[in-house]
Amino acid sequence: LAAEEGFDVDGFDAADGEEHVRLPVLAVVGRPNVGKSTLVNRIIGRREAVVEDKPGVTRDRVTYEASWNGRRFKVVDTGGWEIDVLGIDAMVAAQAELGIEQADAVMFVVDATVGATDTDEALIKLIRRAGKPTVLCANKVDGPSTEAEAAYLWSLGLGEPYPVSALHGRGSGDLLDAVMDALPEAPPQTFGDAAPGGPRRVALIGRPNVGKSSLLNKVAGEERVVVNELAGTTRDPVDEMIELGGKTWKFVDTAGIRRRVHLTAGADFYASLRTSAALEKAEVAVVLIDASETLAEQDTRIISMAVEAGRAVVIAYNKWDQLDEERRYYLEREIERDLVQVQWAPRVNVSAKTGRHMEKLVPAIETALEGWETRIPTARLNAFLGELVAAHPHPIRGGKQPRILFGTQAGTRPPRFVLFASGFLEAGYRRFIERRLREEFGFVGTPISISVRVRE
Ligand code: GDP
Ligand code: GDP
Repeated sequence: LAAEEGFDVDGFDAADGEEHVRLPVLAVVGRPNVGKSTLVNRIIGRREAVVEDKPGVTRDRVTYEASWNGRRFKVVDTGGWEIDVLGIDAMVAAQAELGIEQADAVMFVVDATVGATDTDEALIKLIRRAGKPTVLCANKVDGPSTEAEAAYLWSLGLGEPYPVSALHGRGSGDLLDAVMDALPEAPPQTFGDAAPGGPRRVALIGRPNVGKSSLLNKVAGEERVVVNELAGTTRDPVDEMIELGGKTWKFVDTAGIRRRVHLTAGADFYASLRTSAALEKAEVAVVLIDASETLAEQDTRIISMAVEAGRAVVIAYNKWDQLDEERRYYLEREIERDLVQVQWAPRVNVSAKTGRHMEKLVPAIETALEGWETRIPTARLNAFLGELVAAHPHPIRGGKQPRILFGTQAGTRPPRFVLFASGFLEAGYRRFIERRLREEFGFVGTPISISVRVRE
């Protein structure tokens, strides 16, 4: 059983060979000290999750793998919280909310010896809103004398309370049976987000004639003949394994690159569909641009497609052999003007014809993938946000000053952040935060998303 660091419930596992299976995900939710970590330890069968008597331990949500009766699943301990001047409830709710959203089923843990508190009621509202299958765990029922306490929890409206002693193991079998009923056998698979393992998947995209097939031939090391080139026939997209920089890479959908697209009506539309399909399958996009020509609107549109698909991005300026001093000058101006939104993308200046700088392609792709998979621990992120907000508070609007209460990275590939704030954060301020996040943590070659949730 392998524990993952941090929290990224894409829930994918590299199974044997190339198969990627998404395991169902159970989020364990409850206020501090009800015994979530103890319970998670019980479920995964070892003592690993941090158990502390008092609230205030800063730790991240953690994902573990577990199995019961031969079925594998993932358990997310949403126990991370931080004491904040505005109260612990907001933080608990924030972690729980994200955990619930990304889970297939929820285990709600209540301390039966205490009963339901206001915080419990708030969490129940969140769970109801998410509409996920829920199992109610009445914890700390160490013996028959506390069983009656558990029965009171029927009143929460979450169905049968399962009396459990996480500490001693009492009742945990019945609880896990109920969890198995709540979890789907086969959770929905998300193709483009399959886990790392196996060759990294690269989409080589760009408008017609920028040099995609020339580049592909160059990196594949030989001229290849396009077969089955009958007009009007469509073939399934074909992926190609290519050795580069000592590693194997999967260039996806290369049939679409190698087949000559004739400029007939609708060709643009099909080119765009093909780009989407390649992006869907890829982890990183190499966007090829013809540097010898003025940047076209189609170039920026293709870059936007890659960014919106949430892929790592490398921009390769091709036909560098054709550039003179003057074109180079104008190219830089065009990039400054039209590509500011992807300043973070690594850039390589290549020539598919002469082979110039081909060796720079792989390091650029690797840098972009690294940024794409970067995870910032919650404690570190909040230390950073705390300093940032203290030095540069949000401007006062209508007599009020929105404050960032807490932030967390909800996922990677690409990095996704959620900020909980006391009021609406203006677009300019969000851009400022993104810029500072990039300065602090890198994120070279990856789009990042920041969403803000307002808490009263
Ligand atoms: P969390 O904050 O919800 O993750 O709670 P912890 O797992 O850290 O547990 C908080 C405290 O409750 C610890 O002192 C545990 O030993 C204790 N605890 C957890 N489960 C039980 C239980 O079933 N019975 C009793 N008596 N104590 C428990
Ligand atoms: P695709 O439509 O994007 O696959 O583009 P192709 O690979 O078919 O290339 C279009 C044209 O540009 C062909 O005539 C290529 O020979 C030419 N070309 C591609 N790369 C380069 C390059 O680096 N330098 C020069 N001078 N020509 C290139």
